[in-house]
Amino acid sequence: MPYRRGEGFEYLRKYPGLKKWIRTCICCGSTGYDPDLPEKLTRNWGQGEFATLAAQNIRKYFEPLRVNEQGICEICERLNHAF
Ligand SMILES: [Zn+2]
Repeated sequence: MPYRRGEGFEYLRKYPGLKKWIRTCICCGSTGYDPDLPEKLTRNWGQGEFATLAAQNIRKYFEPLRVNEQGICEICERLNHAF
């Protein structure tokens, strides 16, 4: 199990703003991050933009998951097309 998803959800509870980068497939329920997640996320501390470790952490906890407009991941989409 290379991804520590449990810790990932814990992390998201602490930083709910990062949930906008998390995708969940409505079909199989698998969770991952939006592949469009930038290399570095920045945060404004009032003295300008600073890069945070958020993007790296998300990549550590989750695998990339692309979902279509219906919220269905590529794997489920392929399975649906097979029938
Ligand atoms: Zn799926």
